[in-house]
Amino acid sequence: MTTSESKRVAEALRQIGEEETPVDLMEFTREELQQLFVKGFDEPSFRGDQVFQWLYVHREDEFAQMTNLSKNFRGVLQEKARTSPLEFDGAHESKDGTTKLTFKCDDNAVVETVFIPAEGRNTLCISSQVGCAMGCTFCYTAKMGLKRNLTAAEIVDQVVQARRRMTEVNGHIGNIVFMGMGEPLHNVDNVIQAINILLDENGLNFSRRKITVSTSGMVPAIRRLGEETDVQLAISLNATTDETRSELMPVNDRWSIEELMDALRDYPMSSRERITFEYVLIKGVNDTLQDAQRIIDLTGDIPSKINLIPFNPHPRTPFETPSEETMEAFQQYLVDRNVGVYRRRTRGRDEMAACGQLGKPGDKAEPPHVRKRLEKFRSRQVANG
Ligand code: SAH
Ligand code: SF4
Repeated sequence: MTTSESKRVAEALRQIGEEETPVDLMEFTREELQQLFVKGFDEPSFRGDQVFQWLYVHREDEFAQMTNLSKNFRGVLQEKARTSPLEFDGAHESKDGTTKLTFKCDDNAVVETVFIPAEGRNTLCISSQVGCAMGCTFCYTAKMGLKRNLTAAEIVDQVVQARRRMTEVNGHIGNIVFMGMGEPLHNVDNVIQAINILLDENGLNFSRRKITVSTSGMVPAIRRLGEETDVQLAISLNATTDETRSELMPVNDRWSIEELMDALRDYPMSSRERITFEYVLIKGVNDTLQDAQRIIDLTGDIPSKINLIPFNPHPRTPFETPSEETMEAFQQYLVDRNVGVYRRRTRGRDEMAACGQLGKPGDKAEPPHVRKRLEKFRSRQVANG
C-alpha cells in the first residue's frame, strides 16, 4: 500500500468531513481505496480490496449486497459514497450491431460510449471529455466546443456499465479505445488514473496491449503518457504537410508534424509494439498518392501501422468521402510498398456512432476557431469550382 496520501484521497477526505456530495468510489485505484477507508472510515485497509472486487469483479453496485462488509460500514458507505456516477440514458443500435450507449452525468451532461461487436473481440470506444476543445474542422464533436473534462470515475463507469449491459449477449469486451468524445491527452490526469484502474489485476484486469489512447498530437502529454503508462498509442495524423494539417487540425499550429514525430520516435515501446497512425481520408484534401508517399516518408522509421478511416459525413460539413476507387488506390499504394495498412470498416453511421460523429452540437454555429477554418476551406472549394 502506498503510504503518501494521494491528492484524490485528500480531496475525498475533505469532502467526507464537510458532508458534501457523496464520494465517487470509481475515482480511486485500489491502493487509494485502501487509504480512503483507513483514514476516512477507520476501517482496515483490506476493505479497499473488498470493495474494489465488488465493483469490478462481482459487478455489484448496491452497497447492501456487499455482504462481506459489516452492516455498519455498508450503512456508512450508503450515506457518504456512491458507486456509479453515470445514469444510463439509452442504447441506440445500428444495423451493423454497433451500439451507442448514452449516459447522463449529475450536471445533465451527456456521455457517449460506443460498443463495437466483432467475432471474438468486441471493442468499447470511450469518451474522455464532454465535447472537445481541439477544433478539428472535419469532426462533429469539435462543433460542441469543450463542455468539461470527465472525471476518472465517469471514464471507468462507461466500461463498467457497458460490460453490464452488452456482454451477456455479445461476449466480453476485449479492447478499450479512447476514441470517443474528447481529446484524452487534454484530460491526461484523469485518463491516466482511469487506465490504472482498468489495468488492475484484482479488478477489471484489462491487458495494457488492449487499451489504446488516440490523440490529435499533444506532444508534452504524449511524453507523459509514455512515462506513466504502457498502453498503446494511436495518433490522428490526417495530413502529410504542415499546411494541410494545420488547416484540418489547429493543434498542428502548436506542435508541428516534425515535433510530433520526434516525440513518437522517443515513445517507449517493446519490440513487437506499433504506433497506429489514423488517417481520415477526405476527398480532395489529403487523398492523393503523393500523400500516400509522404505517409511513408514521415512514418518509415517509426514502428507503426496505418489505419485509414473513410471520412464520416455529418450535418453541415463541407467535406466529403473520397470515391471507393481513390481510397482503394491509396491503400494499394501503401500495400505495394510493404506498409502495414488497414482500412477501418465504417460502422454505426446510421446512428451517428461512427468516428467523428459523436456529440450533440445542436443547431448552434460552431465555435469561432472551427468556423474560421471551415470558411477558409469553403471559399477554396468555391474557387476550385
Ligand atoms: N480526440 C482523439 C480521439 C477521438 S477522435 C483524436 O482525435 O485522436 C477518434 C478518431 O476519429 C480520430 O482519429 C479522428 O481523426 C477521427 N475522426 C474525427 N472526425 C471524423 C470523421 N468525420 N470521419 C472519420 N473519422 C473522424
Ligand atoms: Fe477532438 Fe479528436 Fe474531434 Fe479533433 S478529432 S476535435 S481532437 S475529438
